[in-house]
Amino acid sequence: MTEQKITLNNGQLQVPNQPTIPFIEGDGIGPEIWQAAQTVFDAAVQKAYAGEKQVHWLPLLAGEKAYKETGQWLPDETLSTLREYLVGIKGPLTTPIGVGHRSINVTLRQKLDLYACFRPVTYYPGSPSPVVHPEKVNIDVFRENTEDIYAGIESDVGTEDAEEWKKLLAKQGKLSKVRFPDSSAFAIKPISKAGSTRLVKAAIDYAFANQRHTLTLVHKGNIMKKTEGSFKKWGYEAAEQYGDKVFTWHQYDRIKADQGTKAADKAFQAARDAQKLVVNDVITDNFFQQSLLHPEHFEVVATMNLNGDYLSDALAAQVGGIGIAPGGNINYQTGHAIFEATHGTAPQFAGQNKLNPTSIILSGAMMFDYLGWNKVADLIRHGIKQGIKSHHVTMDFAKTPDATVLSTSEFGDYVAQLI
Ligand code: NAD
Repeated sequence: MTEQKITLNNGQLQVPNQPTIPFIEGDGIGPEIWQAAQTVFDAAVQKAYAGEKQVHWLPLLAGEKAYKETGQWLPDETLSTLREYLVGIKGPLTTPIGVGHRSINVTLRQKLDLYACFRPVTYYPGSPSPVVHPEKVNIDVFRENTEDIYAGIESDVGTEDAEEWKKLLAKQGKLSKVRFPDSSAFAIKPISKAGSTRLVKAAIDYAFANQRHTLTLVHKGNIMKKTEGSFKKWGYEAAEQYGDKVFTWHQYDRIKADQGTKAADKAFQAARDAQKLVVNDVITDNFFQQSLLHPEHFEVVATMNLNGDYLSDALAAQVGGIGIAPGGNINYQTGHAIFEATHGTAPQFAGQNKLNPTSIILSGAMMFDYLGWNKVADLIRHGIKQGIKSHHVTMDFAKTPDATVLSTSEFGDYVAQLI
């Protein structure tokens, strides 16, 4: 086989018929869910293109396996290969808490500048749910992926660094705001105009391309005025660059101030009738409440890194849990993208062939959509939908008396034959 790479030409991905796609199987349950996923992917590509197209999977080392073999958690070669091949897919990787190496996931996102973490949350009938109407959840989350508190700029209690921060705060007259200065650790939360703008634009472009009509900026700008509050401001500014194609709450407020509520309501209704993209905002704690009470009010959400982390898992819980929620980390300018299972390594289940491979399988569907192989993506989603509907599922989804409990690999085989 001659090697065929995915490339970017004039901002467009060029995908050959036999692309090489690197993958990291991951730690814990990673190898099991990856095997099941690969079976499904190959079956879907075969069904869609009858041999005319085929993926060549290239295994890459990262995580515990990499550390054992190379002494590096994220070998340089893995990073350079992902850089070179543009698009990859991965299972979960272990991150120690409080001590040890930095998150490999976060490092990959930052090194490849994968600024948009895209997590669509949607309901597959038959999935177990703690809410009465999970079918009302159909929310596409765009989480900023390269800044916020995830920058990893932290200083431990009593270190020289922490002392320096205290000195700086004292100089600025702000040290009295720190309740217990002598036993405080510190962290920095960078939120930039450049980072916020490109993320919000990615979410808006997605909304236009996918006939979505509401985009909500989620922020805690009432408390973090200069960081999260600025995200909101820059988000609205980015939206207004799209001119007549959008209607923002800022516009609504301006019309209300100039011409009164009636005129503002009329303008809003006219924007809805014209199917413009309505851009609004909501404070994070309220979002958590509203997305449980009225999930149908939200379509596309754009938010910062930490908010996005929390709220995408919370939304996933409504539609069956993190075992089913897919995700992709994308740089829409360079074309680099890594699709991934959104859950962790579930170490207590490793090697048992029991857990749900759906998260990584649906992440693969997102990847095939990204490559323009939409037929493959649709077949994968169809297989998952039929499997869940017929209650042939892994143990986490087996909540009905008629459920047939399948192992991870059996579920992969079952879905593959439904395709
Ligand atoms: P986890 O997601 O691994 O597990 C939490 C619980 O969720 C599990 O006990 C299990 O009940 C359930 N679960 C997870 N995956 C499932 C699946 N595929 N099917 C069904 N149920 C599933 O989270 P954790 O225990 O907090 O973290 C374990 C390790 O994973 C940590 O080292 C953490 O840093 C890492 N992690 C990695 C990623 C990533 O690679 N993207 C994401 C989150 C956590």
